[in-house]
Amino acid sequence: ATPAATMVGTTIGAQNGVLFKGGDILERAKDVDTVVFDKTGTLTEGEMELTDVIALDARADGGTGAATAEALDEDAILRLAASAESGSEHPLARAIVAGAEDRGLDVPDPESFENVPGHGIRAVVDGRDVLVGNRKLLDDAGIDPAPAAETMERLEREGKTAMLVAVDGQLAGVVADADTVKEGATEAVAALRERGVDVMMITGDNERTARAVAESVGIDPENVRAEVLPEDKSDAVEAIQSDGRKAMMVGDGVNDAPALAVAHVGTAIGSGTDVAIEAADVTLMRSDPQDVVKAIRISDATLQKIK
Ligand code: ADP
Ligand code: MG
Repeated sequence: ATPAATMVGTTIGAQNGVLFKGGDILERAKDVDTVVFDKTGTLTEGEMELTDVIALDARADGGTGAATAEALDEDAILRLAASAESGSEHPLARAIVAGAEDRGLDVPDPESFENVPGHGIRAVVDGRDVLVGNRKLLDDAGIDPAPAAETMERLEREGKTAMLVAVDGQLAGVVADADTVKEGATEAVAALRERGVDVMMITGDNERTARAVAESVGIDPENVRAEVLPEDKSDAVEAIQSDGRKAMMVGDGVNDAPALAVAHVGTAIGSGTDVAIEAADVTLMRSDPQDVVKAIRISDATLQKIK
């Protein structure tokens, strides 16, 4: 493109809250044939709320009664979970802490805690070992998550992120957080598909929750990549591009930065982390998923004018 055309495109972008980092990116965006959206904070608001606290029946082990001396009630479970999560910045954690405080529970600082990225948290609260996280977190600790399977599946089908709570090596309950889909997400997916662009979603969240959210915005279930660990997101984007596809990755988190860097075009959500914005080629200042379509259209229009 001529410097003049590039300048016009960049300016039109800026006026629309779409910041291109350079003229070459403006040229590249028109070739995008696949858009890969991160879920949390990109297609959704990323503002979780605690929706459910469920105490599991202590006899759910099949009635052996072995080591099920005590069943914790909902408040006890939520208090321990919130305390364990109180040192974490994760949106899932913050929602659990806020939910406990809303219910008037005291949330003591944990004696110790450890983040297990992509899986959950391990902590000691009131001298008790507390785990809050996904099935893998409990499996790795030798605790069978099976008694909670039905409860977890029901919550996940509702699009919620369900987390298991274990106390002193025993499965105690389930807590769930939910996020709301962004205004404009459904319209963005529809407009991209209208253009013939494949739309995909990638997330660390579980398959069932991911599919429920995908369905609600019009993304095909087979285009969902779920349970992708933070360090594996860039590999997932490379795999998508391995057959010559030109993918635009759209994300907001620190986790998304390597994937933004390997994508044909990396697009950061303006309200996202600095790390994501730095790794990206394009920043959407309004944090509106519909501006993804705008970015591609501006690139298209700029390059058509100069032909
Ligand atoms: P996302 O890509 O949606 O931001 P993460 O990779 O951070 O997800 O986490 C993946 C999954 O690990 C979550 O859906 C949740 O089940 C579990 N998890 C991660 N961090 C926490 C936490 N602090 N508390 C409970 N569960 C967690
Ligand atoms: Mg995110």
